[in-house]
Amino acid sequence: MSKIFFTVGPTQLYPTVKKHILQALKEDIGSTSHRSEQFQKIYSETASSLKELMCIPDDFQIFFLGSATEAMERIIQNCVKEHSFHFVNGAFSKRFFEISRQLGKNSQQIESAAGDGFNFREISVPEKAEMICLTQNETSTGTSIPMKEISKLRKRYPDKLIAVDIVSSAPYAAIDFESVDCAFFSVQKGFGLPAGLGVLIVNRNCLRKSEELEKNGVSTGSFHSFSSLRKYAESNQTSETPNVLGIYLLGKVARDLFEYGIERIRKETDAKAKMIYGFFEKNTEYSPFISDEKNRSKTIAVINTPDGSRNIIENMKKNNIFVSTGYKENKKTQIRIANFPAHSLSDTEYLLQELSKL
Ligand SMILES: *Cc1c(COP(=O)(O)O)cnc(C)c1O
Repeated sequence: MSKIFFTVGPTQLYPTVKKHILQALKEDIGSTSHRSEQFQKIYSETASSLKELMCIPDDFQIFFLGSATEAMERIIQNCVKEHSFHFVNGAFSKRFFEISRQLGKNSQQIESAAGDGFNFREISVPEKAEMICLTQNETSTGTSIPMKEISKLRKRYPDKLIAVDIVSSAPYAAIDFESVDCAFFSVQKGFGLPAGLGVLIVNRNCLRKSEELEKNGVSTGSFHSFSSLRKYAESNQTSETPNVLGIYLLGKVARDLFEYGIERIRKETDAKAKMIYGFFEKNTEYSPFISDEKNRSKTIAVINTPDGSRNIIENMKKNNIFVSTGYKENKKTQIRIANFPAHSLSDTEYLLQELSKL
């Protein structure tokens, strides 16, 4: 029996990844120059497959970075002169906020109580905030922000930029790119790929802001400033030698997901999420950490385990099933289960069946 990874990232590889890696070896992708025409073709195919899959409008640009964490830093450097405003609902949104402070910005945050959503109507974003930063799906707590709340923020604050972390919700989450100026993810979560690639999707407002900062003598970084990323992206290149294999594989998997059907993926994700949460709700020992269903992530289920996470994790390992511990301070008391396109219905049934035996 092969291993099944329900870990939140890195996670189970999408079923077609192996085939694409073998093909990449045949095509000598590992030896391909990033200045070659072959690479330019890979870049443009991956960018257009992503645009098609995620309904990204044509006037957005796609940049390839090292990780999602890098995307946080690049966004702050390029879009914020002094003030960003952060909705903090867990460890990753906290990291986004802290990065802005470390870069010397005078940023502010609103923090939700652990596992709770935000009362958006009662929150007002400070006048001086240039950008609003949100983590649509908090992998540390399993909270999710409904897209319609982000769209409402857009209507309330049309002059502010909006940045959204979609690392553990893409490609499941239907992002309304009218309401978002930039979004980012890394590939080892919902896309089911090996780690080592970040993707940043930006519109013209972000590029314009970055230019304005540069004109005013604000540092926007070096090789990965938006102006440098853009210059190279326009000819389907990168300034440095990138993760060529990662970009190749992402393009292939994005195409596979598109052909499989994004609506079908969404329906299946919803159905599996219902099974997973239903199982833990019925169980007398475990309980979902997020009590309000509307804030519950469909792709990351965080579960309280009164007898500790260790036993469960060790027992599941014996069946070749891998689940994640809780994040940091909840490491010992919670488990986290990923529900990505790479997780089939039958794998999920198997997971729940084995859990029910504990
Ligand atoms: C994993 C994760 C990140 C960090 O991704 P890296 O690729 O490790 O930089 C950021 N935000 C969220 C929500 C995540 O789940």
